[in-house]
Amino acid sequence: MADTPYRGRFAPSPTGPLHFGSLVTALASYLEARVHQGQWLVRIEDLDPLRESPEATDSILHSLRCHGLIPDAPVRFQSRRHGAYQNAIDQLLSDGIAYRCACSRKQLKEHHGRHPEHCRQGQSAPGNRLFAIRFALQDEICHWQDELLGAQTQQVTAEVDDPVILRKEGFYAYQLAVVVDDIDQGITDVVRGSDLLDMTAQQQQIYRALGATPPNWLHIPVILNEDGQKLSKQNHAPALDDRQPAGNLAAALAALGQKPPANLSQQPVENILAWAIRHWQREAIPLTSR
Ligand code: GLU
Repeated sequence: MADTPYRGRFAPSPTGPLHFGSLVTALASYLEARVHQGQWLVRIEDLDPLRESPEATDSILHSLRCHGLIPDAPVRFQSRRHGAYQNAIDQLLSDGIAYRCACSRKQLKEHHGRHPEHCRQGQSAPGNRLFAIRFALQDEICHWQDELLGAQTQQVTAEVDDPVILRKEGFYAYQLAVVVDDIDQGITDVVRGSDLLDMTAQQQQIYRALGATPPNWLHIPVILNEDGQKLSKQNHAPALDDRQPAGNLAAALAALGQKPPANLSQQPVENILAWAIRHWQREAIPLTSR
């Protein structure tokens, strides 16, 4: 991909307002894109109306704007992309790389991830029952290079790990949609939290199944709260205070191992971002969560 212009993105799921951990991820992906004279996109991954809300989307987009993180193209919404996900599923089904599966989680657990109904062999007869569609992984020990964490080795186990790509409730799943959109938007470099590290080998197989080359990945350590839990919406991480964007950005830079001068947080947001682009040191990002 040496000659392809850099294209990065920040892709939050709108399950709550932006918190400090997601600001750190957004900022890292923004700075990587800027330092590479690339484009930076924002994509709202609103695939699950039961867990997500339009208020959260508005609040995330508002927070990004307050922090000067303005994307280079109109924001994309996955809720408007169902046709593309269905096309990908149709292609995978007709290529025999996806299959219908009516097994319950309980059944799969009892059978150690194997499908009692032999769904992968197409022997499950869904009839009128609810079924999910799963991607059929290949057994593989996947070696790949993370731009920050270095050489990675991930074991992919066919059948046991097969991800759902269309849920029984009829919602398209993250694992498929993220790949379909990253391909469609020409994303060359994914910068995201290391909580998604384990998904990467599976996603590489989905890229290849859809006839695309996987991008570069850079996983940044997740920010932990005082109890050592990931700062996340599920753990009730507090929303960012949008009235303090300068202080938030300076703290996010410090969390990324950068050394902003003490008076930087007195500056307008634009100056902070300009400083951060000039002084960005990817190697300074801490390798472990904190
Ligand atoms: N939407 C995912 C999340 O909020 C991130 C997707 C990605 O960066 O690959 O956790």
